[in-house]
Order: sequence, then structure tokens, then C-alpha cells
Amino acid sequence: MRRDSGGARGLHRRLAGIAGEYRREAVPPDEFAAFVKDLPAHGYAGANVTLPHKEAALKLSQPDDRAQAVGAANTLWLDRGNLRSTNTDVEGFLDNLDACAPHWDRDLRTAVVLGAGGAARAVVYGLVLRGAGRIVVVNRTADRAEALRRRFGEHVDPVAWDERDGPLADAGLLVNATTLGMDHHGGLALDVGQLPGHALVADLVYVPLLTPLLAAATAHGLRTADGLGMLLHQAVGGFTLWFGKKPDVTAELRALVEADLAASTGSPAGIS
Ligand code: NAP
Repeated sequence: MRRDSGGARGLHRRLAGIAGEYRREAVPPDEFAAFVKDLPAHGYAGANVTLPHKEAALKLSQPDDRAQAVGAANTLWLDRGNLRSTNTDVEGFLDNLDACAPHWDRDLRTAVVLGAGGAARAVVYGLVLRGAGRIVVVNRTADRAEALRRRFGEHVDPVAWDERDGPLADAGLLVNATTLGMDHHGGLALDVGQLPGHALVADLVYVPLLTPLLAAATAHGLRTADGLGMLLHQAVGGFTLWFGKKPDVTAELRALVEADLAASTGSPAGIS
């Protein structure tokens, strides 16, 4: 457990005049249910939940439509004594793209999503909400891509991992929702030169901030949206539910979080 006295939420609490703190708690899976039931007793207004607890959080709470559709909850809050949950990765993903590349979803015929894990489910659901025509899901484990088609319907088009360069020529959007490109994980082999010149490339990975995929996209003159932008935008929903005040994602906030990340990972905002 670490007391988080600085960081993005610390800044917003100070700006909003809120007395409270955002703590990190390491909770083993077999203690998660009891911990969640005790949230009010511990004085918590709510919580963010990360792996491996997102599906348990869904089952232990009253989920909204978004968490139910994605099949995972990342944010818990108390609503008149009831434990509710939502999934703010959906709006984090969409709001970040809106901020980085306004109108990116206008006439979006084909989007390519790499990955079929929890984050990819939120991305695909967001793309369905925005009316993407065809959502190609490319995943190493084919069954998980097929599961997204069963969950979200015929707009989802599973493609084998070895065929991943094939659909790029038609894609208006490419999203990396795998762990590839993260520090200490493998690299992502992909020919971004196949993408059309108007394509937007988004990476959910934010350590490093400038992933090899985003660097390659920039070198090809493509628009990009990084994972830190999504992280900041997904935090807005939880803060608003807990404190009743909606924070803005500003350059000041981003600079603060970048400095936090650089201090905690020892990695500057570049490729490492
Ligand atoms: P997850 O459920 O564990 O899914 C991981 C995905 O990566 C799966 O599709 C997996 O494929 C794929 N993968 C892992 N190693 C691979 C390899 N060597 N080759 C090909 N594919 C590989 O994780 P998640 O929660 O979806 O998170 C995915 C990424 O998104 C992480 O980097 C996470 O930090 C990031 N994320 C960012 C934000 C943000 O706000 N920026 C929010 C959520 C998540 P298989 O199915 O074949 O295993």
C-alpha cells in the first residue's frame, strides 16, 4: 500500500478543495470480496480496480450498462449505500481520440484493433458506440478474438495474428491494445507503412510514453494518440463519481503525471 499524496488526483483534489487522499492498496484475490464490502467502513468513497480484480468487481457490485457490456469494471463508487460499478476505459479511449484527432470517427469504415483482452473489449465497445463499420480484431489467441465477435456482433471481424498486416491498407484507425511495446515486454512487428495517410494510430501502452509503434506512425506522417492521454481521460469519470466535480484534462495535469511516471519507472518520455 502506498499513500499517493501527489500525482494527478492529488493536484485535482487541491484545485477542487477536497479533503481526502487516493491510496494504492495491494489486495490478494481471496481478500478482494471482503475488502470491497468494507469500503465504506474504511472511509472510502470509491475505488479504481485493476488486474486481476476487474471481473470480480463486476460481480460484487451493481454494474452500469457500460461495465456490463465490456464484462469488466474498473471503477467502484457508493450510491446511497449501494456499491455500483462502471468501466471508464471506454470513455477514456474515446475522449482521448476526440482530443487528439477531432472527427476521427467520421465515416470510419475500418478500424483495426490488436489484442482481445480486457482493454480491447473496452476499445471495441467504444468503436461500436461510435458506429465503426468494420472492426478487425487481431489477436495471438484466435479464440479470444472470436469471443469478441460473439460479444459485440457481426461488425467484429477476427483476423489471425500472422495476417495482421493485411487489413491495414483499409484502416482509418489502428489501436494497439496488446502489451507489446511496453517496457520489458516484446516488440510489435507491424508494417505501419501499409496504413493510408489519413489513418490515426493509437497505443494504449504508456510506459514508455512514445512507444515504437507511435514513433513509427509519426515517422510515416500519421496522426497519433498515446496511452497516457487515455489514462488521464479514463480517470475523469471516477473522480466525478466520487467527488461530484468533473476535472479537466489539462497540459499542467499531463506534465505532472509524466513527471510521476518518469520518477517511478526511471524511463523518460521516450523509447526505452
Ligand atoms: P490483457 O487482458 O492481459 O490482454 C493482453 C493482450 O496482449 C492479449 O490480447 C494478449 O494476447 C496480447 N499479448 C500479450 N503478449 C503478446 C505477445 N507476445 N504477442 C502477441 N500478443 C500478445 O491486458 P489488458 O488489460 O487488455 O491491457 C492491454 C494493454 O493495455 C496493457 O499494456 C495495459 O497497460 C494497457 N491499458 C492501458 C490503459 C490506458 O488507460 N492507457 C487502460 C487499460 C489498459 P493473447 O490473448 O493471445 O494472450
